[in-house]
Amino acid sequence: MRAVSWHGKEDIRVETFPDPQIVNPRDAIVKVSLTAICGSDLHLYTGRIPTMQAGDILGHEFMGEVVAVGHEVTNLKIGDRVVVPFTIACGGCYFCKHDLWSLCDNSNPNAWMVEKLYGHSPSGLFGYSHMLGGYAGGQAEYVRVPFADVGPITVPEGLSDEQVLFLSDIFPTGYMAAENCQIREGDTVAVWGCGPVGLFAIWSAYKLGAGKVIAIDRFPERLKLAREYCKAKTLNYEEVDVFTMLQELTGGRGPDSCIDAVGSEAHGTTLDAWYDLAAEKLMLETDRGHVLRQVIHSCRKGGTISIPGVYGGFLDKVPIGAAFGKGLQLRMGQTHVHRYLPRLLEFIREGELDPSFLITHRSSLEQAADMYRIFEQKQDECIKVVLQT
Ligand code: NAD
Ligand code: ZN
Repeated sequence: MRAVSWHGKEDIRVETFPDPQIVNPRDAIVKVSLTAICGSDLHLYTGRIPTMQAGDILGHEFMGEVVAVGHEVTNLKIGDRVVVPFTIACGGCYFCKHDLWSLCDNSNPNAWMVEKLYGHSPSGLFGYSHMLGGYAGGQAEYVRVPFADVGPITVPEGLSDEQVLFLSDIFPTGYMAAENCQIREGDTVAVWGCGPVGLFAIWSAYKLGAGKVIAIDRFPERLKLAREYCKAKTLNYEEVDVFTMLQELTGGRGPDSCIDAVGSEAHGTTLDAWYDLAAEKLMLETDRGHVLRQVIHSCRKGGTISIPGVYGGFLDKVPIGAAFGKGLQLRMGQTHVHRYLPRLLEFIREGELDPSFLITHRSSLEQAADMYRIFEQKQDECIKVVLQT
């Protein structure tokens, strides 16, 4: 089969690999019809995630047709069209039973690697380093799906691949980011980052009762989509002082909750953003904390901070004093995708949202290397890339 593989920083190739096989009775093999490149893939592309190996197959947002099932997979049959959560979960451990699917205790065979870093291991992920399981990803013609009796959701007739693909990650991620804000009717929510995750977070914040959502980015096409499709008020952080504007827009109190949908590769125009660049080069920090600092600084007292943006290692100069002094709540983590699938599929079926609104680039798997570059550099007004197999 053909698949997209990682060979080092900014080195993406499309190569031929052996077809995956069923190795466990709870596996399925999915013939991928549509897959996407995620902002999280960019952390691999820029070489920020440890324990990647040359030749690893990338991709964790994918869907397709079931072409083989292990004998313990009774909920799926050959020919079913499924979307697969990017987090791999067994369904039976303490964490799965507590609806904390991205923290599954049984899906990361390399748990020991990440335990050294984090104390405990989160779930395995598709196509996302050896410390998170070493699973081959879905930017490929075929993929092996472990615990297929638990994760994949069957897609009803009448919905296109593009309408449902993002159930695999970014739609639930935006939704969980908003849910983590514990929004009360009429609240003001500020969202940093108008990439796919930020855009779904804006939509979800309104869905969950926000009265006003203020979205922050610097790319005009992303701000336009946030404004026109998702109905946010937008701020360009290169043109205004974000903190000042947020206070002005909230009567001096600050937003009730703040979502960091940017994560560790934040850009910025302030002194601390330059500090991050220098500290990163000197290996004094692994993640750039600029947005998280601004989020903590801007949020109202007693407010909630939700962090869907990925942080991988160690942050420097986090204003924990401000977070403590203002009594903030911080909530974060990989998305518990399984928790949200039925609910979000229903929104799509009912026509409340067509998640394909943010696709700007459609290409073949063979063009993946170009598409990674275009998406990473935000060239050609790129917001979301899907790859057809
Ligand atoms: P993206 O790269 O398309 O979007 C990131 C956006 O942040 C860009 O538009 C960029 O201009 C903006 N940005 C950078 N610096 C900023 C600043 N100072 N202020 C405001 N905006 C700023 O990525 P994406 O696909 O939307 O993903 C966003 C984040 O969410 C990534 O860190 C990704 O890894 C993470 N993610 C997390 C999960 C999860 O399970 N928690 C799932 C998917 C993605
Ligand atoms: Zn993703």
